[in-house]
Amino acid sequence: MKLILMGAPGAGKGTHGAAIRERYHLPVISTGDLIRKAMQAETKAGEQAKAFVSAGKLVPDEMVIAMLEERLQAPDCQKGYILDGFPRTIAQAQALEEMGIVIDRVIDLEVEDEVIVQRLAGRLVCRECGATYHIQYSPPTGANTCDHCNHLLSRREDDEPATILERLRIYHEQTEPLRDYYASRGKLYPVKGQDTVEATSKLVLAAVGS
Ligand SMILES: [Zn+2]
Repeated sequence: MKLILMGAPGAGKGTHGAAIRERYHLPVISTGDLIRKAMQAETKAGEQAKAFVSAGKLVPDEMVIAMLEERLQAPDCQKGYILDGFPRTIAQAQALEEMGIVIDRVIDLEVEDEVIVQRLAGRLVCRECGATYHIQYSPPTGANTCDHCNHLLSRREDDEPATILERLRIYHEQTEPLRDYYASRGKLYPVKGQDTVEATSKLVLAAVGS
């Protein structure tokens, strides 16, 4: 089963992707993670990607597609996968088709912009050990230090409020047309974000398995 998990940055794709992974034993392929790993490893592609991400812009298609195509050839992807954060544009959706990939369902998480800004701007990450926190939902015990390794916590560059607003603007402009694209193919399964993660997850799993 090949799924696409669609939704604005901060709509909960990571959380709900994990719920689908556990139920169906499929790997979650996040192009965001592929890009971040390349940036951390300071590969040539990673350095190029960094310039775009820091400016709140999307990494160009051909770079993302090359990283993705390599990843999808891994043995753990043979029975299917969940794509998280890709495709983001009609052109990318067409690139998937050109790779010969037939998507079964597109799960579209719908969350209000204000809710997303509140969620993302509160995220803190430890750059030492990778632990993540949220000012409201899962605060660290100390004032601004990691519970595990005591290092100072900080926001990811793309979680700065101005960057979030720019990412949402780009999302609405470029990614929302994908809804029509997949709806016209009978593959769109919209899920409205609920007040609790559990309630939303239930709807997501129902959309995958119905
Ligand atoms: Zn830490």
